[in-house]
Amino acid sequence: MLFDCGEGAQRQMMKARSGFMDISAIFLTHFHADHTLGVPGLLQTMSFQGRTEALHIYGPEFVGEFCALLNQIGYLSLGFPVFAHQMKHDEVVRFKGYSVQAFRTFHSVPSIGYALKEDLKPGRFNKARALELGVPEGPLFSKLHRGETVMVGGRQVTSAEVVGEPRPGRNIIYTGDTIASEAFLPYLQGADVWISESTYSEDMTDKAAETLHSTAGAVAELAFRAGVKQLILTHVSSRYSTDTTPLLEDAKKRFENVVVAEDFMEIEIPMTD
Ligand SMILES: [Zn+2]
Ligand SMILES: [Zn+2]
Repeated sequence: MLFDCGEGAQRQMMKARSGFMDISAIFLTHFHADHTLGVPGLLQTMSFQGRTEALHIYGPEFVGEFCALLNQIGYLSLGFPVFAHQMKHDEVVRFKGYSVQAFRTFHSVPSIGYALKEDLKPGRFNKARALELGVPEGPLFSKLHRGETVMVGGRQVTSAEVVGEPRPGRNIIYTGDTIASEAFLPYLQGADVWISESTYSEDMTDKAAETLHSTAGAVAELAFRAGVKQLILTHVSSRYSTDTTPLLEDAKKRFENVVVAEDFMEIEIPMTD
């Protein structure tokens, strides 16, 4: 999955050796060039490299026109189909093991953010208890873990006896360009990670309001109120390109667990117990 695809995204993916042939869905927040310019080149490279699997592009209003335009201006020769999906506010798309929900954001053009949510995970398997109940290690273990009841020595062993409560999956929120709005709170609630734009520092609040962007402080305030576990700031104005301290200082006044994203940054999101 790829969220937004600015100019140079393909090149960065090559450098990061993250591979891009496996991308099956691109989620665009809005159609400003810094979020979409990388798409045509990426599609072309995928085609050159022999891709045949369909690619799905999700986005707000104009995603259909955007994909149609790419076709009309000469990308018709792609060796794989591209499907555009316009996402409405609150709409959910199901995938295997997780879902992605779109929600309205507030920028100068139609825009949406995304909440990626893993499905419930099966509870932990209590191996010691299973052995105690006489279940031999092997296929019966997997059956029990899947929720089935098994027979051992003439007696039933149910899944509930050896498997704990289902565990919540992880959720990641990604918002593109937008003012930091309280309307995001229900989506942010308890999120493991929120990746947010943070174009300006606090002293530029007027500029942020005028251009419909966020300040680090306002984003951090929302993260705090929603009980987000980790906040990652990105899309910072070039005025902070050599020093992001003003953004971090603003944010840390409200929310401790915050970092400014860097190219090639990787983070690990632990499962909740
Ligand atoms: Zn924008
Ligand atoms: Zn932007």
